[in-house]
Amino acid sequence: MRDQKIGFIGLGVMGKSIASHLLTAGYNVAVYNRTKSKADELIAAGAKWMDSPKTIAENSNIIFTMVGYPEDVKEVYLGEHGLLNYAKQGSYLIDLTTSTPTLAINLFTEGEKRKLFVLDAPVTGGDIGAQNGTLTMMVGGNKAIYEKLHSIFAVFCKAIVYQGAAGAGQHAKMCNQIAIASNMIGVAEAIVYAKNAGLAPEKVLDAISAGAAGSWSLSHLAPRMLQDDYSPGFFIKHFIKDMGIALEEADRMNLKLPGLQLAKQLYDTLADKGEENSGTQAIIKYWNK
Ligand code: NAP
Repeated sequence: MRDQKIGFIGLGVMGKSIASHLLTAGYNVAVYNRTKSKADELIAAGAKWMDSPKTIAENSNIIFTMVGYPEDVKEVYLGEHGLLNYAKQGSYLIDLTTSTPTLAINLFTEGEKRKLFVLDAPVTGGDIGAQNGTLTMMVGGNKAIYEKLHSIFAVFCKAIVYQGAAGAGQHAKMCNQIAIASNMIGVAEAIVYAKNAGLAPEKVLDAISAGAAGSWSLSHLAPRMLQDDYSPGFFIKHFIKDMGIALEEADRMNLKLPGLQLAKQLYDTLADKGEENSGTQAIIKYWNK
């Protein structure tokens, strides 16, 4: 697999770290991002710059995308200079973006018509998981293709779980976001409560993160809340996008998710106050007087 030419589109918080792991592992990596300067470090480390999805498609046979929103995914795959128009037959296209299951199915179907193999493969584990190469991946699409690419995914993931047909990876990621949404409210409320009860929140965290309340958010994001560090590991604007997708999908299933609805409402309020580019830990600001 190491002789394969990898193309990588989307070099933000997550994409930059993932592409860097692929480079370090010895793969030939070509990169493209809307804002070119975000590729500078990767280029210095040996990645080749390409100036569009079209040139990425023409020069690679395994292409990863890690852009922001479903509209970005549409542009990169289906736009005039998009991947599906220019990828070579037999290429593998893996969308790591958290996007909609419907779009994932559409890309899979359009890919099949052109003899391209498309997987939806969103990840979880945050900015830290991307930096450490310890992400968890949820894969939808053809199982044989997933098996073929497993060793490349393992370069930046500690767990890779095949979920089912196209769209199943994105549905699994929605389950992840649903679980996180209510958990973030609990984490912030625990800290606010600790402070109001006159406790030392750091000591409370030491105790409760080791017990039944333990969670990734409690261990990684609560300390950032206590340090007033609201820099984005995971942008509020992206979390709102994900909760919107999950609520729309749930609506289609005739399913009510009041926990998720409440979390979206709190985050919408924060975004209205200008916090959309903060990290999700800024939910604590909801209780600021
Ligand atoms: P980000 O920092 O905003 O990165 C997205 C990158 O994609 C940006 O650099 C952006 O370019 C680029 N991009 C967008 N549209 C493009 C296009 N049409 N052509 C080329 N490049 C394009 O966001 P992120 O935190 O890495 O998250 C990326 C995705 O992963 C999101 O869907 C997010 O929900 C999901 N996710 C995030 C985390 C996390 O903890 N951060 C964890 C799991 C999943 P510009 O530089 O010009 O803006």
